[in-house]
Amino acid sequence: MNPAERRGVAASEGTAMGVVFPFFPEPLPTAREAIAPAQIEAEIARFHAALDATAANLVASRDKPGLRPADREIIDALLEVARDPEFVGGAEERIRGGVSAVTGAIESGNALAAQFEALDDPYLKARAEDVHGITRNVAATLLGRREISLADVPPRAILVAEEISAWDFAKAPIKSIAGILCTKGAATSHVAIMARAHGIPAVLGYHHAAAADLKAAKMVAIDGATGEVFLDPDPATAERIADRIAAERKVNEALAAYRDVKPVTRDGREIEVAANLGSLSEIDGALAAGAMGVGLFRTELLFMERKTTPSEDEQTVIYTELARAFAHRPVIVRTLDIGGDKPVAGVEFPHEDNPFLGWRGVRMCLDRPDIFKPQLKALLRAAVVGNVKVMVPMVATVDEVEAVKALVAECRAELSAAGIAFGEFELGIMVETPAAVFAADALAKVVSFFSIGTNDLTQYVMAVDRLNPRVASLNRTEQPAVMAAIAQVCRAAREAGIWVGMCGEAAARPDLIPRFVEMGITELSMSPASIARAKKTVLEI
Ligand code: PEP
Ligand code: MG
Repeated sequence: MNPAERRGVAASEGTAMGVVFPFFPEPLPTAREAIAPAQIEAEIARFHAALDATAANLVASRDKPGLRPADREIIDALLEVARDPEFVGGAEERIRGGVSAVTGAIESGNALAAQFEALDDPYLKARAEDVHGITRNVAATLLGRREISLADVPPRAILVAEEISAWDFAKAPIKSIAGILCTKGAATSHVAIMARAHGIPAVLGYHHAAAADLKAAKMVAIDGATGEVFLDPDPATAERIADRIAAERKVNEALAAYRDVKPVTRDGREIEVAANLGSLSEIDGALAAGAMGVGLFRTELLFMERKTTPSEDEQTVIYTELARAFAHRPVIVRTLDIGGDKPVAGVEFPHEDNPFLGWRGVRMCLDRPDIFKPQLKALLRAAVVGNVKVMVPMVATVDEVEAVKALVAECRAELSAAGIAFGEFELGIMVETPAAVFAADALAKVVSFFSIGTNDLTQYVMAVDRLNPRVASLNRTEQPAVMAAIAQVCRAAREAGIWVGMCGEAAARPDLIPRFVEMGITELSMSPASIARAKKTVLEI
């Protein structure tokens, strides 16, 4: 086999090799287990004991110190299911009808999950996952099985799974994980973003091996930059990979010297090298990596990880903590950029044939002031710290910017009337639609800055789905059409006297940074792991 032909999606840079930690939860038994009438009371008692044990485990993990509020909320939702009268009563009724505790629990859980799955609201639909999770736990306890948990990943292991949910990942000892290999997912999956944030090499969407082969593998090596995967590599391959890992380590050690330097080109242009973050837990890593600020704080995770929309007060606490952590250095928070592919509590997304061309980002936010205004108010309140900037995703027209400004003015007036303190933030936009490129002259007159989102801009300019590996060769920012679009945006910004940054993945590419700087980009924002290398690249321009 030529491994190059059997690549997965390169999701988080770096090479890793280690023992496999297979994370393939066992399917539940499907056969019905009948019991004699004399066993009924004992089986009901067994069911309750298993339920209590599951709840006690959940309470123990919820009360662990250092747990993030979002994770605590997920656990609370699971506890709710464990106490749901329909689930508990349904299981008891089935056991009284003559089936074992395991069968009763599984059937009751499946029936309740099916009710959730039948609902239109995608958020309630997602509750079915919680029901399945509790059912699995209770059934496993009754069967005397221990559910595999990412909490048990041994040091330096490679996590191999079909997919890993945010909830599973939250339980994993992040520092133990040497790499991640999943059969599903793509570069913008939640697990990919988390892996990049923590500097863990990852290959996703690797569908070339059967689950049985992945489970049977003892060792695996992955290259998260190329998507290469080597199951049980032969000694020569293992040696080659070990050399690659050693070389990468050397490069990273050498790069550490650049972490705290001020990136200035030889002709004296200062470039701001900032971090892309998705949660507060990534702040320490970004500061340690030498981030000069935050160029993109994605707020989607705050909404997606939760069972309810975060309130204005909760968001204020989060944005304020972020701003304080980077005191005096700019922190750019992006307003909610969510589409029909990701459910969020309280937003019912219609079915769309082309969600990437649909109701997302600023389009959805402007239609839903009940969701958008609390975020804008929270950002105004966090702006008292002084370094908060706000940018709006998916902008295509000047009208959208004017509508956002009108809402911000409304929010200001309402905060004033309520006697709540707030500050001012600069308002910028992401340039990631071709429409924004062609309207850049007009847009530059109504905003304070541009940040080019090359991930989406490349997909829309080239008309390639950014998640489709088949057309990956066209999905490249260095394509002349995309580079011409970037140059045009920079020219419009220069003429209007505003600054331009870049926060798509291309901002971290050493081969392209010199060209971006030449065009007039003054800020580059990226995964913390790429910051030192970008600073070195700038110094050499
Ligand atoms: C982009 O489109 O380049 C970007 C940074 O935003 P996202 O990847 O979150 O769509
Ligand atoms: Mg985008």
